Amino acid sequence: MSERYDVVIIGAGPAGYVAAIRCAQLGLRTACIDKWLSPEGKPSLGGTCLNAGCVSSKALLDSSELYQRAQTELTEHGIQVAQVSVDLAAMQARKSRLVHRLTANIATLFEDYQIKWLPGHGRLLENNRVEFTSHEADGSQILEAKNVILASGSRPMELEAAPIDGERIVDSTGALSFQEVPRRLGIIGAGVIGVELGSIWSRLGAKVTLLEARDEFLPMVDKTISQEAHKRFQQQGLEVRLGARVISTRVTSKQVTVHYQSGEEEHELKVDKLIVAVGRQPYSEHLFALETGLLLDERGFIHVDEYGVTNLPGVYAIGDVVRGPMLAHKGSQEGIAVAEAIAQGKETAVKRDNIPWVIYTEPEIAWTGRTEEALRDAGIKVRVGTFPFAASARANAMDGTAGLVKVVADANTDQLLGVHIIGPWASELIAEAVLAMEFAASSEDLARTIHAYPSLAEALHEAALDVDNRALHVV
Ligand code: FAD
Repeated sequence: MSERYDVVIIGAGPAGYVAAIRCAQLGLRTACIDKWLSPEGKPSLGGTCLNAGCVSSKALLDSSELYQRAQTELTEHGIQVAQVSVDLAAMQARKSRLVHRLTANIATLFEDYQIKWLPGHGRLLENNRVEFTSHEADGSQILEAKNVILASGSRPMELEAAPIDGERIVDSTGALSFQEVPRRLGIIGAGVIGVELGSIWSRLGAKVTLLEARDEFLPMVDKTISQEAHKRFQQQGLEVRLGARVISTRVTSKQVTVHYQSGEEEHELKVDKLIVAVGRQPYSEHLFALETGLLLDERGFIHVDEYGVTNLPGVYAIGDVVRGPMLAHKGSQEGIAVAEAIAQGKETAVKRDNIPWVIYTEPEIAWTGRTEEALRDAGIKVRVGTFPFAASARANAMDGTAGLVKVVADANTDQLLGVHIIGPWASELIAEAVLAMEFAASSEDLARTIHAYPSLAEALHEAALDVDNRALHVV
């Protein structure tokens, strides 16, 4: 006999599990299928983000940053520590405990909201039926659903020239589980994931080289910020080689030799471990039967309209498997919107203009809205204000003077069009800019808002003042 649900969700990452909670809150009988297994072989909710992405990377970024600060900054603060060393096994164990705690929290929420958690594989069939193959039982079961939400996420892109062997050549998941700090580490791809992983292992002592095929460093980031980042990363010993196109790799029991082309010349790089971090692609394999007629776009993303509706009635898709930035919070917001559309019939388009982006390096990088170059290229006249953290009292007190805030406003209306930050706690500071832009604030609104002294947020205030050449603490 088949089971009937108001909503069946395939995928329990930040898009799918949030959709499940919101559906249940709104009184819908909800089931969520997810096939993720922890390294111990246990089903685990939270998808890539909690199990092998956002959370695990931030756990190791925080641990490695503490290690580095203990080595370089404590003496300056008058704190003497006899010997600072790394116990990587303990660091990895902390990461695993954190992942376990957060994923177990989702399981508790599922129980509290009476969401049926189905660990195993889900596949969309015709007429909103879903085939569920459990990790535990043999055979499969058919679920009948009034609505189906596809939230199967994404997976790392592969590179023919550097096939993953899980030993010497790894993807981001493997790179978050090293049991030893590699002496020489190569990373193909200097995007967000590449620079975050590079930061972790470089702080722990690896000699890190990033090979990036593009000629520009972090091209999606405002140029003022990416140039500052490039300079800081090089100072930290993170070597970024731009315009470096990997042609082939050779693995021996001792090392990996990476052959790459730079201009007309061929070069090689010898490393102990190589991470392939060349981007992620939508994960739609084995997700639906062909007879359903579900439409994908030319890049393999599930085709949806602005409300997350696919070409099939009652079938929605959200998160990394659809167009838009591959970010956890973008997927979660789509999950909420789709759940409310199903339960209340009110379709809301998720606005993607002011999504915050963060790169959790040191200094952190965060931005929202459009870059100065993109705006100028689009023929929009802008006024720009900047403020360096070196002139911030709070940043000085915490030894975080690297970086700056940049505010970009429309030259005619003064409306904020972009805010770009590189510096301490940029990941938190950006929230104020997101809110301001969501409410269509002007730079003058930010300039007239009182900010606490001494706080890092004053840098945003001063950058807003600088749009009109009235910053106070710099000439
Ligand atoms: P996912 O989290 O990928 O979840 C999809 C789930 O669906 C998975 O559990 C998968 O196993 C399951 N699934 C797929 N197909 C099926 C099927 N047929 N049947 C059953 N289950 C299925 N984003 C941020 O916003 N901030 C960060 O700091 C950040 N850091 C990252 C660091 C790393 C190293 C990586 C790799 C990614 C990071 N991301 C970050 C990106 C973020 O992880 C993704 O944007 C987010 O996980 C997407 O959520 P999702 O729910 O769409 O998909």
